[in-house]
Amino acid sequence: MKQLIKNIQDWLLEDGRCTGCGNALAEGVKERYGNEMYIICNCLRLYVYDRQLKVFTKCDSECSLRQEG
Ligand SMILES: [Zn+2]
Repeated sequence: MKQLIKNIQDWLLEDGRCTGCGNALAEGVKERYGNEMYIICNCLRLYVYDRQLKVFTKCDSECSLRQEG
């Protein structure tokens, strides 16, 4: 079951969608910090956008914005 959920989340991210609510991340709030582009979804989940790979990655607490500086 866990594996299934993981696959669905990967699929959603590949499709540029939030793994929590399914909204398009392109419609989320974009915040730029240094070279990183962060996306804040309507549901307040945080993602980082890799402009080279053109993929979204979900941000956990370890990758919070306070890493900057
Ligand atoms: Zn969301």
